[in-house]
Order: sequence, then C-alpha cells, then structure tokens
Amino acid sequence: MTKQVLIIGGGFAGLNVAKTLGKAAGVEVTIVDRQNYHLFQPLLYQVAMAGLSPADIAAPIRSMLSSYDNIRVLQGEAQRIDVDARQVEFDFGVLGYDYLVVACGASHSYFGNDQWEQHAPGLKTVAQATEIRRRVLAAYEAAERADNPDEQKRQLTFVVVGGGPTGVELAGAIGEMSRFTLAKDFKRINPRLTRVILVEAGPRILPMFSEESASRAMRDLENLGVQIWTSTMVTRVDDEGVVMGEENVRAATVLWAAGNEAARLEWSSPVETDNRGRLVVAADLSLPNQSNVFAAGDQASFLHQTEQPLPGTAPVAMQQGRFIGKTILGEIAGKPRETFHFVDKGQMATIGRSRAVVEVGKYRFAGWFAWVTWLVVHIFYLTGFKNRFFVVLSWAWSYMTFRRGARLIVEKEWQKEAGGEPAAEAIHAE
Ligand SMILES: Cc1cc2nc3c(=O)[nH]c(=O)nc-3n(C[C@H](O)[C@H](O)[C@H](O)COP(=O)(O)OP(=O)(O)OC[C@H]3O[C@@H](n4cnc5c(N)ncnc54)[C@H](O)[C@@H]3O)c2cc1C
Repeated sequence: MTKQVLIIGGGFAGLNVAKTLGKAAGVEVTIVDRQNYHLFQPLLYQVAMAGLSPADIAAPIRSMLSSYDNIRVLQGEAQRIDVDARQVEFDFGVLGYDYLVVACGASHSYFGNDQWEQHAPGLKTVAQATEIRRRVLAAYEAAERADNPDEQKRQLTFVVVGGGPTGVELAGAIGEMSRFTLAKDFKRINPRLTRVILVEAGPRILPMFSEESASRAMRDLENLGVQIWTSTMVTRVDDEGVVMGEENVRAATVLWAAGNEAARLEWSSPVETDNRGRLVVAADLSLPNQSNVFAAGDQASFLHQTEQPLPGTAPVAMQQGRFIGKTILGEIAGKPRETFHFVDKGQMATIGRSRAVVEVGKYRFAGWFAWVTWLVVHIFYLTGFKNRFFVVLSWAWSYMTFRRGARLIVEKEWQKEAGGEPAAEAIHAE
C-alpha cells in the first residue's frame, strides 16, 4: 500500500527528504511550508546588507520539486500534531500521515526578553532581512539630515549582539559598507566615522571555531573598524540603544544575532525537548516512542555522535533529510533502520568583502583564498536557484566597484486609508 509522507518545512532538511523520496515507488509525499519559497539562509546577511536582493537567494518550493510526480507542495502553517490520530492541523485544515517529518527550523531567542525584538530584529527571514536593510540605510539618511552632533553619532552607531558567524558577518559587512560603499555618497556626514560594536557574552567570538581562526577573524573585523566587546551581557535594549552592565551605548540600530530556539508546535502528547526547544531524537532521527515521526535540521537535538547536539547548520540539515528519506524507503523495502552519522566537511565564516576563515579537518586557512573558497562553496550550494549566474555577477560587481546594488529603503506601509494616512496595520514589503 502506498505510504503517505508528510513533511513540515521546505528548508534544507525538508527539501532533502522530499528529493530523496521523489520518483520512488510506494510513497506519496506532501510538503507544507508557511512560505512558498525555499530560503538560502547562509546568504541572508547579504540581503540585509544590500548586497543581494531577496529573489537571488530564494526559489519557489513548487518549482524546485515540479519534476516529481509523487510530491505535492502546499503553502500553510502547521499548528498542532496529533500523534495518536496520525494527523497534523494546519491553518488551512488537517492532513493525515503514515510518516511525519518535522523540519520547521528555528527562530531567535531573546532569552525571555521578547520585548527587545522590536528594537533589535533578528535575521532568519526575508522580512527580517529587508527590515534590517531598511533600518541600516535609514540610519545614514537620518544622520545626514540631523543638525545635532549627538543625534548624528547615535544614528551612526550600530550594535550587533552575538559573536557567532551571523554576528561576525553582519558587523563586518556594516564596517565595510561604511568605509567603502557609502564613504563618498554623503555630504554632511562621514560614513567612515560609523561606530560598529560587536557584543558577545562569551569570552571570545566564533566559539565553534579554533582560537586561531577566531583571533584572525577578530583582527580582520578590527581592521574594518569593528569594536569587539567580549564577556559582555546585554541587559536592556530600547529605543535609545543598548545597556550592557554599567555601559549605556546610544545606538539607533541594534541587530540581534544571539540565541536560537527551535520553532515550536503544539503536540497531542508530551515530547522531549532540549534547552533550545529542539526535539530529542533517537539514533535513527525518529522520536523515542514515535518511530514514524522524524525530526531533522534545526528542529532535532541529536546526541548520539558528539557530547553536544549536532550544530544547526545547513550540512547537518541536508544530510539528516537525505538519511530520513532513505530510512523510509528502506523500511518500506523491509530493511532494518540504521544510525545516522554526520560527515563533517568543515566550517567557514566570512568577514567583509575579501576575508574569511575556513576550517576543514585539521586544515585552517584565512584571508583572500579563504574568502574565494567561501564564495565558491556558497554559489555551488545555490543549486536550483535560477539566478545563480546573476548572483555571481552581482557579487563581482560589488567586489570590483565597492557598490551594493540593492540599497533600497522600502517602507513597511503599502496601503492608504480613506483619509490618506498609512494603514494602521503595516506589512513587510520586499
Ligand atoms: C542568517 C543565517 C546565516 C546562516 N549561515 C549559515 C552558514 O553559513 N552555513 C551553514 O551551514 N548554516 C548557516 N545557517 C544555518 C542554516 O541556515 C540552518 O541550520 C538550516 O537552514 C536549517 O535547515 P532546516 O531545514 O532545519 O530549517 P530551515 O532552513 O530554517 O527551514 C525551515 C522551514 O520551515 C518553515 N516553517 C517554519 N515553521 C513552520 C510551520 N509552523 N509550518 C510550516 N512551515 C514552517 C520555514 O518557512 C522554513 O522554510 C545560517 C542561518 C541563518 C539564519
């Protein structure tokens, strides 16, 4: 009998489950995502920093899977999972399953201070990236207009919270944009005087990298004018800026790149989660006591290979997705399940236009060659994106001219009320 496989989330994990099951006999797949597109998150910071447009790094899930006759793509948001009835409640209705794959990713954690979000957007979605782009570019416009030097200074101060790869990429990109891209475009202000502060609660940035790579990244950031404040806890974020212990930094733009939390769903019976809300999975990525329910990628807490759960990265999500697909096909063919093993091919982070740190096994390198490696790997993984060639051209253009092509400030409001005032309820535009 044909098995019904239901996948929640069309990210790296969900897409790889679907592609592995595509064209296989004996399975019908339904993949549901609340967005109609798959997003290449590793390049989201380029959208936030006006280097790329959203369409360069997103592709419709429907077209990515259109060649598979046994895959149905639906847009909708999962809300509740009923494991006894084997069905999931979505905002559009209910779908049943024989196998369920929970692959709906993660969002930011403000460590119990969700009120900070309005002042310090995180970077997970296209809407957040375009909002960050709007805030960063609008700050320069406001500084150019301001007569008061204190206000100019506040507008030209940027605080990035979180010293992981995303925080490093954002801080480096702002530093570089201020020193090169924007330097000649303003008359009253000098963008080179932009102050960028990267705040990290731990003793050093890039904790998942070696000390050597982290020190190199620190030097590269400092060369771009970024101040790095380690062992510093943020205690308040508001309209005026950031409070860190005794220190009060007035900053018009605060960006949040600290803390991840798995996207939460409601379950009919309790499920075990770790301190980041990730589902604790068995060695075959299924939930303990629910062998037909799998979790993958940023949703899964996999503790069977290393002391810490596997990191929330694209390669982990992709490999887990493929493994789950093969496990389902194997089970249909009567084969026993195997243990998932992550093959680590290395990690990398980029700092500005031509610097990066790369670690592959015991090999570590940094600088221009590392940046080219980073570029090639990211372009390679943009498979299925129609604009791959355009993305390369766009980058090359930015690289050669120090320009950023997507420097548009798009306001949130799009609709006028009868009286001509902006609608009270604003939406995020691209
Ligand atoms: C800014 C940024 C930079 C990053 N850089 C790197 C990097 O350089 N290298 C690297 O390896 N990793 C990087 N990562 C991490 C990597 O992108 C994630 O680990 C990876 O995307 C996880 O894949 P996933 O499939 O689990 O989740 P995602 O890719 O997040 O996909 C989850 C999908 O589920 C959908 N969804 C969420 N909730 C629901 C719901 N209730 N119902 C239906 N659909 C839902 C979402 O719309 C999304 O499409 C970065 C992440 C970010 C945010």
